[in-house]
Amino acid sequence: MTEPDCLFCRIVAGEIPAIVVRETPNTMAFRDIAPKAPTHVLVIPKEHYADVASLATDDPALAGEVLATVADVAAAEGILGDGFRVIFNTGALVGQTVFHAHAHVLGGVAMDGELT
Ligand code: C5P
Repeated sequence: MTEPDCLFCRIVAGEIPAIVVRETPNTMAFRDIAPKAPTHVLVIPKEHYADVASLATDDPALAGEVLATVADVAAAEGILGDGFRVIFNTGALVGQTVFHAHAHVLGGVAMDGELT
């Protein structure tokens, strides 16, 4: 299922350009347009889910595929050994701005343990 007005569905459809670093039959990974770290990649399911909670509830296998792509991206980006951070903003209250489930994969710089 796709949402015609969804930015990330439009990236999946090739209607909006993105630097794609990995693609599987059901997932896609592309560089964040406004990177917050030396490595900042977004990993999404190609199918539209508003956030990670609905993705995990409705299709846990696909949620697992997204996480597997996260790990593959971290390996390909060379940040698997040093450490990296995975963030799923879920809801406008905590800063979600694109309502298509996505994992932020951040690495390549030291971060402290603070969550905010
Ligand atoms: O978690 P949140 O919804 O705030 O993240 C959306 C992310 O999508 C932002 O980091 C933003 O920079 C990114 N973005 C992008 N390409 C676009 C539009 C937004 O990478 N065309």
